[in-house]
Amino acid sequence: MWDWMGNEMKIYDVTIIGGGPIGLFTAFYCGMREMETKIIEFLPYLGGKVSYFYPEKVIRDIGGIPAVSGENLIKQLTEQAQTFNPTIVLNQQVVGLERLVDGTFLLTSHNGEQHRTRTIILATGFGTLKSAKLDVEGAERFEGRNLRYGVERLNDYRDKHVLISGGGNSAVDWANELLPIARQVTVVHRRHVFSGLERNISNLRKSAATILTPHVLDALHGTDDRIERVCVKNLETNETQVIEVDEILVNHGFCIDLGPIKGWGLDFEYGNIKVDNRMQTNIEGIFAAGDVVNYPNKLHLIAGGFSEGPTAVNNAKAYIEPEKELKPIYSTTHF
Ligand SMILES: Cc1cc2nc3c(=O)[nH]c(=O)nc-3n(C[C@H](O)[C@H](O)[C@H](O)COP(=O)(O)OP(=O)(O)OC[C@H]3O[C@@H](n4cnc5c(N)ncnc54)[C@H](O)[C@@H]3O)c2cc1C
Repeated sequence: MWDWMGNEMKIYDVTIIGGGPIGLFTAFYCGMREMETKIIEFLPYLGGKVSYFYPEKVIRDIGGIPAVSGENLIKQLTEQAQTFNPTIVLNQQVVGLERLVDGTFLLTSHNGEQHRTRTIILATGFGTLKSAKLDVEGAERFEGRNLRYGVERLNDYRDKHVLISGGGNSAVDWANELLPIARQVTVVHRRHVFSGLERNISNLRKSAATILTPHVLDALHGTDDRIERVCVKNLETNETQVIEVDEILVNHGFCIDLGPIKGWGLDFEYGNIKVDNRMQTNIEGIFAAGDVVNYPNKLHLIAGGFSEGPTAVNNAKAYIEPEKELKPIYSTTHF
């Protein structure tokens, strides 16, 4: 079989779809099992949700790492993944799947590029990522200026009045992270109740942040390229007030879609892909790890996915080479 350049198409042992934290660690472990590995990622960069939503947030719930910024975690995971030189393809959404007569898979990306592989590990998270947009007239005009959907650099908010719209995990986390840096933090949420980790919510409620509930952002006012004032509305009384702001951070959730993968014939459960305790999906040769999977008591945390990846790899190896013993192998064996 030939690729679009006329070269014979290489058959990889494993293709990991998704270059988030779990895809990256899984790629490292593939190298430990001496498997020819390719990662295909939709975004123009690696790191999945960590890079997209919270590069500067401090992650505190990975064993042995008391505190690490999202950015540093991804830097280290990328370095670790590159130990065995996997092929990394960015800017491609995998959309098509075909099982060839020899049992290998042919994957097709949105741009038509094709990839051959003996096994697949889906590390797609909940799918490709887009932030839910602020539904206020003219909002798109200020996007990327002082209206943002994620925090790239905490320092951009230093000594500023930051208004955060939202009441979920991200809004609460960012409010707490920005409080020591910003001059003032105002949180606007359409419900009285916040969702997220209780401790973080308590910290926010005890903090100096101004909390406006049940309120929504109603209008944005400013110059051509910057918002200077916003109008917020109390949903119980319909009263409005005008607030001067420097920066607006919108955390209204995000749209994540697995796209055409939903039509591949995989078994789904509660919106995620059902796997057994080998991380095997219902399609032989296709495994999954990380946020995309579902099994009883699945934890949607990075630490959980770090164990699922190697399990998927060991079983993918056993699928290709059934005669090989399926046993845990330590990194000491390889360095
Ligand atoms: C705001 C926020 C804070 C969080 N804080 C923490 C925390 O403190 N600690 C913690 O443990 N967890 C935290 N999490 C959860 C953690 O980020 C996820 O559990 C983790 O990112 C899952 O990693 P993953 O690799 O499975 O998926 P993802 O990180 O979602 O990566 C999946 C990648 O697959 C790509 N992809 C999807 N479909 C395709 C396709 N068809 N083709 C090609 N590429 C595709 C996507 O573009 C994405 O880059 C947080 C999540 C959020 C949103």
